[in-house]
Amino acid sequence: MNNDKTEQITLHLLAPLPYEDNALDPVISAKTISFHYGKHHKGYVENLNKLSAGTEFAKMTLEKIITATAGKADNVAIFNNAAQTWNHTFYWCSLKPNGGGEPPAALKKKIEADFGTLEACKKELAAAATTQFGSGWAWLVLDSGKLKVVKTGNADSPLTKGMKPLLNIDVWEHAYYLDYQNRRADYVTAVLDKLINWDFAAENLEGE
Ligand code: MN
Repeated sequence: MNNDKTEQITLHLLAPLPYEDNALDPVISAKTISFHYGKHHKGYVENLNKLSAGTEFAKMTLEKIITATAGKADNVAIFNNAAQTWNHTFYWCSLKPNGGGEPPAALKKKIEADFGTLEACKKELAAAATTQFGSGWAWLVLDSGKLKVVKTGNADSPLTKGMKPLLNIDVWEHAYYLDYQNRRADYVTAVLDKLINWDFAAENLEGE
């Protein structure tokens, strides 16, 4: 079918949504998902494939591209599209229908050790998500064995700082504007109370 088989090019694929496009409704509508997943996320994957074709990055994994291009002025576009591809796949997994509630026991214990209470952890996540100026992300990460909340601007990722992401929340306007307009705090609160996927965070913590 093609004669380039020996080149082993890594074609990045749009990861399937882990649920139906209306499964997060009414917190996040199917309309938001249709643009956010179907246009924005898909666009990052397509741009990444275009930008990496024929370059040294064509054979690299997504994680490798992100760490190899972070902070490099010549590779801003490929970093942005690679990191946004990763960040969005991670975001869809950080949410689930009927999420929120209590984390699994081991994660809850770790949260209580590092934040005091689950409420304190959620409050820090909400504060990071609402105070991130402009576009970006709020994250729960493991940093040197300790859980922390961090925020990053635009496409930036805790992966480039040696941190292990456990979950994230997208606070780009495209994540909430159709459903919440300017009310980012309402989106963040609803996500934390009703959609956040503590099971996913717990799996990422177990992987350590
Ligand atoms: Mn987004």
